[in-house]
Amino acid sequence: MLTLNDIQPQKNEIYLDNNATTPVLPQAAEAAMHTMQLCYGNPSSSHITGLKAKYILETTRSLVRKVIGATSGGITFTSGATEGIQTAIISALNAAREKGISQKNPLLLYGATEHKAVPETLKHWNAMLNIGAEVLAIPVDENGILDVEFIKLHIADALVICTMAANNETGVFQDLDLLESVIRNGNKDVLWMVDCVQALGKLSLNISETTIDYAPFSGHKLYAPKGIGVLYVRENAPFTPFIAGGGQESGLRSGTENLPGIAALHAILSLLDSEHDDTFKDHETLVRYRQQMFDTLTEVFPDIIFNHDFKYSLPTTLNFSVKGLSSKEIMDLFDAARIRVSSGSACSSKVTGSFVLDAMGKPKWQSEGAIRMSFGPATTQQEIDQACQAIKQAVKALHHSCLMLSDTHDTSEFGVDGLQQWVYDQQCTWCYVDKAAKECVVIDVVPELVNKFEKLVKCQGYKVIAVLDSHRHEHQVLTPEMVRELIPEHIAAGHFNLLGWPAESKIVRLANGQQVPAITVGGKILAQLPIPGHTENSVAYLLGEIDGDDLLAENVDYVFVGDSIQIGGLGRTDLAQSNAQSMYESLQTLNGTVIDSTLICPSHDYQSLFSTSLAMEKKTNPLLNGVLNQSLSVEEFTKQKVSIDQQLPESENPCFCGQISFSSDEIGNLAPNELESFMVKHPKATVVDVREVHEYEAYPEAYVAGKQLVNVPLSQLTEFVHNFQHSNDDHEFICICRSGNRSDAAAKVLKRNGFAKVYHVPGGFALLS
Ligand code: PLP
Repeated sequence: MLTLNDIQPQKNEIYLDNNATTPVLPQAAEAAMHTMQLCYGNPSSSHITGLKAKYILETTRSLVRKVIGATSGGITFTSGATEGIQTAIISALNAAREKGISQKNPLLLYGATEHKAVPETLKHWNAMLNIGAEVLAIPVDENGILDVEFIKLHIADALVICTMAANNETGVFQDLDLLESVIRNGNKDVLWMVDCVQALGKLSLNISETTIDYAPFSGHKLYAPKGIGVLYVRENAPFTPFIAGGGQESGLRSGTENLPGIAALHAILSLLDSEHDDTFKDHETLVRYRQQMFDTLTEVFPDIIFNHDFKYSLPTTLNFSVKGLSSKEIMDLFDAARIRVSSGSACSSKVTGSFVLDAMGKPKWQSEGAIRMSFGPATTQQEIDQACQAIKQAVKALHHSCLMLSDTHDTSEFGVDGLQQWVYDQQCTWCYVDKAAKECVVIDVVPELVNKFEKLVKCQGYKVIAVLDSHRHEHQVLTPEMVRELIPEHIAAGHFNLLGWPAESKIVRLANGQQVPAITVGGKILAQLPIPGHTENSVAYLLGEIDGDDLLAENVDYVFVGDSIQIGGLGRTDLAQSNAQSMYESLQTLNGTVIDSTLICPSHDYQSLFSTSLAMEKKTNPLLNGVLNQSLSVEEFTKQKVSIDQQLPESENPCFCGQISFSSDEIGNLAPNELESFMVKHPKATVVDVREVHEYEAYPEAYVAGKQLVNVPLSQLTEFVHNFQHSNDDHEFICICRSGNRSDAAAKVLKRNGFAKVYHVPGGFALLS
């Protein structure tokens, strides 16, 4: 196991995610350490050690008052803003309950772009305290500004209204003076909470000059450690303790105070309050930084769009989307380049957008592709220079991997060669490229991946020999046509049938003696073999090297089977155009044209196993095994197939025909701190970086235990398996990626394909410094 000291920041790391949390300033860390080691007393103790602690507690409280302009009202230390929000909302709801709710339709209002802590807390305590109010979002306009007309309309019925000083995703700030006049004109008594988390240190606050009732703050958003926060409560505003107990904080918040956190906050607030210290930059400097970042981003991403108007935003946040690039691609790129940013959406294949940008009415692609870069008020000019430099460097990798087209970057020495597998929502698109001949063919292109293919073709100037489907269901999108219309200048001339097969093709003989049509792609031949069963028009494509007019079984590199063979199953045969008997015959035909180890490439991959072979299927797919060794009659096969298909729900079901479970026990785990010594003992081992090309290129100087990496993206893993399938069994491969997920998957695939000595590094680059 790694020790804590083994976990270190990566060299040259650039942190641009200050809205999520900030690093702790050395002054704050020293103050916390000083308090822990020397002033460790309990502020409630009456002896001298306790009194010293009490002094730290109360002087910090005074500093908080000064910095936020709280000449009156209460300042309570909390564990962070979420606790402050709970306390404020419970206090407001409890007061409403005690006073009696006179409104017919009582409302709990909150801004549509509030941090989730606010609406979730409102809903939770509304239910827990049995308030029975409606929790209603106040809409925002395209700039993220709250709709004051909506507030005017509803404020009379509101028990509480929650707004925020500045938004965490966009930095958009609200006009608190305007809000105050609208709120108080409409309802003098409504309790008003303003989430001030992102405003501290960036906006000047004179809280006692406002009628804000509750204002939560959080230390870790301003260079103090996590676990310390502050809640301001206006004088005479109702208060219900959220934590009861020993009566600390004048009974308002029990529990021994987090004195190290409070001391750290003290250090930060002292810097903020000092006229001589320049740790915290003035507004103009921060605006200059933003301009520099803006200039860099617009230079490297010509298709960038900013998701907020800088006029209404704090200078420390830039939220943007880039046309043609997903937030995942940008995040992965930046993370590999050691630049930490965050995305507005979840990083999964099913992308979800940002609710903040959705509320602002931004188009779906902007919301789903959003990236947030946030620096802090203590960021230095040098850090901004380094960040801009690193961004420029990183984005070059996108040109190399053809994710972004460019007139100025020569991509000829980069780009892919051989077989590519792109997966979208467990559907596989297979693209074979002959780089030298500049020719390619694509099979079963998923509509969502059409643009990826387009970029690759345009970036490298490839000629597309054919855009093929392995079969066609009724009402299916005509992707071959769609692609041909998108890039007509790259497509070979001629006529194509419904599956995209060109009218002009030659004839080759397969190992079973069958003569079938074929086309040439660079140095290889692609033959089309009908395999009806799943659908009437199902075909297999066999890619290999021709010998005279023959495509011998041992010369077939890959066979693309569409849905007919799944990894661990067979395509369903209960559709309108299916026929189980035909499938039985087709499987036997196919068996006569390839060898047992030929890689079978299906158009679905439900278990991240990438490809399979007849040899592997015979072990794990009893139905297919029965057909191939002829232990199953066609009648028996049909009977079993019908029964399996009947267990599948209607259409679009991901589980076509039972799935194999694959044990991963034999894969060796190599902890990051074991790598050095492993490499000394096994100097010939290959470290395989399975991240995508742009991630690898983003920081090409990354070495692992002094060893240069071999980049085999998951999209090229099947090609890698093919190339090394029959070579030295004893060679050792260590798979590594960003966090350990992809390397785990890759190692399992290699193992399944007969690679004997495979390891992976759990935790991946994230745990290497
Ligand atoms: N409010 C806003 C605007 C925030 O950005 C955050 C943190 O992301 C919170 C509330 C929650 O703060 P804490 O992490 O201190 O509970």
